[in-house]
Amino acid sequence: MSPASSCCVLVAGSANLDFVVRASHVPAPGETVLGRELALFPGGKGANQAVACARAGGAPTRMLLALGDDAHAVPIERSLREAGVEPHIVRVADRATGTAFVCVSDDAENAITVAPGANDALRGEDLPDLSGVGHLLLQLESPLAAVEAWAQRARAAGVRVVLNAAPARPLPSSLLDAIDLLIVNEGELAVLSGIDGDLDAALACIPTRGVVVTLGAHGCRARLDGEHLHQPAFAVSAVDTTGAGDTFCGTLVAALARGLSFAAALRRACAASALACTRAGAQASVPSHDEVERWLG
Ligand code: ADP
Repeated sequence: MSPASSCCVLVAGSANLDFVVRASHVPAPGETVLGRELALFPGGKGANQAVACARAGGAPTRMLLALGDDAHAVPIERSLREAGVEPHIVRVADRATGTAFVCVSDDAENAITVAPGANDALRGEDLPDLSGVGHLLLQLESPLAAVEAWAQRARAAGVRVVLNAAPARPLPSSLLDAIDLLIVNEGELAVLSGIDGDLDAALACIPTRGVVVTLGAHGCRARLDGEHLHQPAFAVSAVDTTGAGDTFCGTLVAALARGLSFAAALRRACAASALACTRAGAQASVPSHDEVERWLG
């Protein structure tokens, strides 16, 4: 990716309030489990990635999101502002703010149910003015028609479009054609490519100019303009990998917006996401630019 150093990053996507309860095990269908204390965290892939992008520094970060007119919206907006994200909020009077109900077991299994609420009200026409925007970062927790309209408008305006294709679903070529860089994990790559167990073949059949596949404790592999790269993971003792992928996406785009080379941006994204694995939570675990700098030495 070539530099776009003075431009800001716009993230358009989901924001939820996560209700997290730890329990001995995740309930089976029909079972009730007595859990422990309830904890509330701002979440949603869009908001997590916006926070990661802003904390990575170097590029002003804005976010298009939809919230209900209710109390759950308050901590979501506060967390974005505290991280330095400028929110563009579509206020949806007749829908609840998005919520996620998360049960985490003692052996780190989880089960998550999302009530998208206001997130489902986002439309193509909600995308704000793109002047000054160098990169648009998208995920798939918003209506697909809106994601496609945002990508196409940004592409036409000369903005670089990055799509984290999560949660996984097959995508129309009309959307893929508007994407510069696709970021997926191994499972998502298998869904998109229809190929399981052969990374090279799966990467080769993705039509976008660039693609990154994150590989958990094995780092990531990438292809850009025919060049293949591998960035090993940074060794850490991971305590909670929630939000590692979101930290990776936000940090990678911030680094590209700052003008780093693709290889340097991948290294920074792997470092920030490894650090995020060493602490609990999604937005709360995202390291700042200075922490990553100190850690990399
Ligand atoms: P997702 O959470 O979207 O499935 P991954 O599990 O592939 O994404 O993690 C995203 C990135 O986080 C990886 O590319 C890697 O850089 C980092 N990461 C994840 N797990 C670990 C780990 N155990 N140790 C070090 N880095 C990790």
